[in-house]
Amino acid sequence: MKKLIVATSNPGKLKEIRNYLIELDWKLQLKPDTLEIEETGTTFIENACLKASKVAQALGEWAIADDSGLTVDALKGAPGIYSARYGKTDRDRIERLLRELGKADQRQGQFVCAIAIARQDGSIALHSEGICPGEILTSPRGMGGFGYDPIFYVPQYKQTFAQMPPDIKRKVSHRGKAFEALLPHLYKI
Ligand code: IMP
Repeated sequence: MKKLIVATSNPGKLKEIRNYLIELDWKLQLKPDTLEIEETGTTFIENACLKASKVAQALGEWAIADDSGLTVDALKGAPGIYSARYGKTDRDRIERLLRELGKADQRQGQFVCAIAIARQDGSIALHSEGICPGEILTSPRGMGGFGYDPIFYVPQYKQTFAQMPPDIKRKVSHRGKAFEALLPHLYKI
């Protein structure tokens, strides 16, 4: 059984990644809290590769990392890779985004998720990216999910991420798509 370190200290993320990789007979383990990797990349994929590579190298084990966020066209791609750092709480981040977007007519945006897997020596074995296009509402709608979910509307489903049943979000989300692209290749490494 292959061991894979998940380059996060967040047990919620470990659970989520474990669900996506459930078909694989791999043992997933959280990285130690003491090992911190700074996200110095300028793109989602750079940050995912950087985190996977540094954790793999430091521990001498295979590692997986993801980096995700929301890019808004009218804000020239903001908050983008800074999505998590856009405010202190989910509420602050949503309020800031709605304030900066104001009454703009052009409200298209997309969630992006990049995933990278590194070998024990830190070299990147695989990476993938998933995108989910949508629109930014003028006020939150729905109680589920996390982060920017209540203001992210998916026209195809006529719902925000926060209104969607979790199994639907899992399928249509940027993260779901990134894992879907990765999965067939994972059997070969
Ligand atoms: P990170 O990938 O852990 O660095 O976090 C990215 C940030 O983007 C999160 O803190 C959320 O604010 C946001 N984000 C990423 N994916 C989602 C999602 O599926 N729903 C809502 N917000 C998300």
